Amino acid sequence: MHSITPCKTIHPIDELASYDAAILENPRNAQPSSAGRRTKRAIGIWSKFWGNGRTLRIAFVDTPTQTKRLAIEALIKQWQPSVNLHFEFVDDGESEIRISTYSATNDSAVGTDALLYEQHQPTLNLNIEMDHPEFEATVLHEFGHALGLKHEQQHPKANIPWDKPKVYEFYKTNYGWTDEDTDLNVLTPLQGSDYLSGPYDKDSIMHYPVPNELTTEDWEVGINTKISMLDRRVMRKAYPKFRSIDAV
Ligand SMILES: [Zn+2]
Repeated sequence: MHSITPCKTIHPIDELASYDAAILENPRNAQPSSAGRRTKRAIGIWSKFWGNGRTLRIAFVDTPTQTKRLAIEALIKQWQPSVNLHFEFVDDGESEIRISTYSATNDSAVGTDALLYEQHQPTLNLNIEMDHPEFEATVLHEFGHALGLKHEQQHPKANIPWDKPKVYEFYKTNYGWTDEDTDLNVLTPLQGSDYLSGPYDKDSIMHYPVPNELTTEDWEVGINTKISMLDRRVMRKAYPKFRSIDAV
């Protein structure tokens, strides 16, 4: 028995619209990659963080029980101390982030990509019940995407000693993924400024579990269940509360 199906990053259908929305929302999203160069052919090298200091209106597109709704809201609020954003849970009117609690998947638009969806469409999907042992980790992880974070196992400095044939087989057997799915979501390091040049973080809530048998060394990552210290540091850099943007 393996853990729940890992969340696949939702790639925007329209890359140009994704870029425009990100830059219009927050010009810092256009900053050059950590390698200090831009390349027009590379896809998705811009970051997708929200405008610093803004209010994010968060709605539910369905009607979870009050208990479940409050549990999800409480988990989302765990991110609050590390971001200069105001989370406003709304019952009607427009919203930036819309949660579906009865989806077929657990996944989310990354940051400003949520702006590409119509107001009736969810931007963050949940398919997990409160009594599931990974409920909290899943909600924290998906809202991390909603704040602009991508998957930590694809950090450019991760250097995970993957046993690639076993990785392809693992995801195919357990989750029905094609090799391309596995490349896109697990194996291929991501370029760009999303990580704000921060170090790779094995403890990140945005990291997939890495079973020891999928590596060529004695190396593994368990199921991370909490927002890590480095997750919070990345958030503080993306959404600084004071003007000391350059301070670390
Ligand atoms: Zn994810």
